[in-house]
Amino acid sequence: MDNLINLEGVEIAKNIKDNLLTSSEVFNFFKKRIDRLNPSINAFLEVYEDFKIEGDSSLAGVPIAIKDNICIKDKRITCASRILSTHIAVYDATVIKKLKKAGLAIIGTTNMDEFAFGSSTENSCYGATKNPWDILRVPGGSSGGSAAAVAARLVPFALGSDTGGSIRQPASLCGVVGFKPTYGRISRYGLIAFGSSLDQIGPITTNFVDCAHLLNIICGFDQYDSTSSTKEVPDFTKSLDINIEGIRIGLPKEYFCEGVAPEVLNALEETINIFKKKKARIINISLPHTKYAVATYYIIASSEASSNLQRFDGIKYGLRVNANTISKLHSLTRKEGFGCEAKRRIFLGTYSLSSGYYEAYYLRASKVRNLIKKDFDIAFSEVDVILTPTSPTVAFKLGEKIDDPLSMYLSDIFTISANLAALPAVSFPCGFNKQGLPIGAQLIGKEFNEEILLRLGFSYQSITDYHKKIPKIATIC
Ligand code: GLN
Repeated sequence: MDNLINLEGVEIAKNIKDNLLTSSEVFNFFKKRIDRLNPSINAFLEVYEDFKIEGDSSLAGVPIAIKDNICIKDKRITCASRILSTHIAVYDATVIKKLKKAGLAIIGTTNMDEFAFGSSTENSCYGATKNPWDILRVPGGSSGGSAAAVAARLVPFALGSDTGGSIRQPASLCGVVGFKPTYGRISRYGLIAFGSSLDQIGPITTNFVDCAHLLNIICGFDQYDSTSSTKEVPDFTKSLDINIEGIRIGLPKEYFCEGVAPEVLNALEETINIFKKKKARIINISLPHTKYAVATYYIIASSEASSNLQRFDGIKYGLRVNANTISKLHSLTRKEGFGCEAKRRIFLGTYSLSSGYYEAYYLRASKVRNLIKKDFDIAFSEVDVILTPTSPTVAFKLGEKIDDPLSMYLSDIFTISANLAALPAVSFPCGFNKQGLPIGAQLIGKEFNEEILLRLGFSYQSITDYHKKIPKIATIC
C-alpha cells in the first residue's frame, strides 16, 4: 500500500482491475494522506467523505482532485472567493461528466487564486497554498492547490484551468506535469469563466502517461460549449512511445534572455542536450512580439474578466449584502465579496472596455494578439515544436510579490503567449536548483498537435527521473 505514491495513476487502475486493490482502499489511502498533510499545505478546500464509481476506463477507480472553479453537481463551488462561498453547483461541468463516466473517484476540490487571478495561490479567501518542496514558498498559481496536491502525492492527478499559465506555471514550481491543450479541445461548459477567449481546462499529473490517459477522457466536442472544436480526438496514448528522431525543436531567443535565473537556463541546457541525444534537431528561432505579450494579455484577460464577473451581483449566486436600494445591494455585495486582485481586474478591464478607451486598449491589444499569433505561424513553418523555460525563476517566497502586482504579472511572461495564440503547451519537471526546488521546461505545439508534446515529454521522462522525485514532507506520511 505504501508504495501507492510511487505508482502512476494507470498502474493503480490496473491493480484495481486485477483485484489486487479495491477502489475504496485507494480512496482511503489518499484521503488519509490529505487528512495528515493538508493542514500544512492547504491544497484542498474540501475533501469528500465518499465516492461513487459510475463507469469504466483505463483510469477507473483512481481518485482525482478538481480545481474549485469547475462545477460538480450538488457540491460547493467557491472559486476561492467570498462572493461564492455558499454556492452549490446545480450541474456537472462536461469534464466532470466525462470523468464520472470513466469511473474516476472525485476526492475533493483544490485551492486557487480567487477566480483564477494570480500566479501564487495567495489570492484565495481561504489562505495561501504552500509549496510542498518548501512550505515557506508559493506553489505558483492560479491552480496552485491542484499542483501542490499532486506534487505532495495527496492524489495521483488533478484538473486545473489555464488562462495565462495557471496550469503550467504552478506545475513548474511544484515539479509536476501541467498540460494546457489547444483552445477548443476540452469543453469549458461548467468552468466559471475568467477570460473566455483564453481559458482552457487541463490535467496536472506526475507523468506523461497519466496525462495522455486523462486527455483521452476529457477532450472532445461538446454541444454546450460554442468554442468547442469538432476536430477528431486521437488516442493520445498511442503516440507516446513513437521515436522523436528528426523532430525540429525551436529555441526562441526571446525566452532565453537576461532576467531568466541562471539555474533555470542551466536546467534548460541540460534538457536540450537530452533531446539532442534522442536525435531531435535543435533550431534557433525568434518570436519578436514576445515583449508585448504581458501587456496584451493583461488588457484582454482583465477586460473579459470584468465582463464575466458582472453576473456576481448579489442576486443570482452566493453572497448577498442587503440594502435599501438595488444598486446599493449590488455594490455592497461586490465590495464585500471580491478580494483585492479581483477588484483590480474589474477596474482594469472596465477601463479598457469603456467608450473612448476601447480603441486605444482592447482593440489595440487584439491587434497585437494577432501579431503574436503570426510569430508562431512563421516559427512553425520551420520547427515542429518550441522549447522554453516555463517560469523565469523557481518558486518565490510567500508574500514576496503580493504587494507588487507588476512583478507578479511578470511571472507569466513565458506562458501567456500560448493562450493568446490558442496553442497547446505543457510544463514538465527538468531539474532542481541547489536548494532542491523544482525547475520546469515548457513545450509549445502547433494547434491541435498535442501528440507531439506528449511524445517528447514521454521520451524525456523515459531517460530521466526528475518526475519521480517526491518532496520530503510527502514521504513522512
Ligand atoms: N497568472 C495569470 C493571471 O493572473 C494567469 C492566470 C490563469 O491562467 N488563470 O491572470
